[in-house]
Amino acid sequence: MKDKEVKVLKDQRDRRKRVQRIRTGIITFISVWMVLSIVLTAFMCVKIVSLQKQIDILSGNYDESQEVSNKVSSSAADTRNVLIQTIDDKENLAQEGDVHQVYLTFDDGPSEQTQAILDILDDYGVKATFFVNGREDEASLAAYRRIVDEGHTIAMHSYSHKYSEIYASMEAFEADFLRIQNLIYDTTGVDCMYYRFPGGSSNRVSNTDMSEYIQYLNKQGVTYYDWNVSSGDATSQAFTVDELVENVMKDVVKYKTSVVLLHDANTKTTTVQALPAMIEALQASGALILPIDENTRVIQHTSIQK
Ligand code: ZN
Repeated sequence: MKDKEVKVLKDQRDRRKRVQRIRTGIITFISVWMVLSIVLTAFMCVKIVSLQKQIDILSGNYDESQEVSNKVSSSAADTRNVLIQTIDDKENLAQEGDVHQVYLTFDDGPSEQTQAILDILDDYGVKATFFVNGREDEASLAAYRRIVDEGHTIAMHSYSHKYSEIYASMEAFEADFLRIQNLIYDTTGVDCMYYRFPGGSSNRVSNTDMSEYIQYLNKQGVTYYDWNVSSGDATSQAFTVDELVENVMKDVVKYKTSVVLLHDANTKTTTVQALPAMIEALQASGALILPIDENTRVIQHTSIQK
């Protein structure tokens, strides 16, 4: 009888141990599975963002304004002997009583929006700067001519705007540069001396060393402009008309010279809608709206000593 009781007790103890072991096993399995899932999800997210960026770069859509955050850096740049200027260049900070000089710059045109942008600028008697890409259909050629005829500054933004092509080599960069410069000259008679790098001079999208290209432009006597005020019209956030105006106004007050990044592209209808309110707000604040010329303070994210 006693032996039987001991056996029953032993069985119960074994069963409890077994259950305990199974429970521990299940909990461990679930914990490991959860941690793995989280790690895997995080990894996939990073991968997706990086792949999306690659796709954008390859299709030439990577956006300048996403590059603003790269403006100041970096040990990489230092090793290339590149002098980095911050956007908040102290000499450009506005003091009480300074007149704000504002340069509206439109990248990526001509587009279906160019005529509407030019109409609005004409309505307000305001001159701007167009950093154009190479397009040779009749409407685009007419747009280049209208930009020049109406007293705006025409400037280059590469022919193809395809990062993978332009920044592939110095030869590729030069070929693209000459192509857009010649197209503008042949179409408008303007010997164009202003340039904006696709992605800005601070772009790090293709791990490109920009100093060679910068040196090339310096040698040609071509001045490149980045920007110190971004409307945000090319970020993935879809800003409203009011927000675009607000984005510009909140930064313009900081500087003596503001070079404002805007886009002239088929999909940028909000930019066109925001333009009248933007011009009115700038004029109401006493700002001078001007086209880029040889007297304009040079705003660059990256520069090298000439
Ligand atoms: Zn662009």
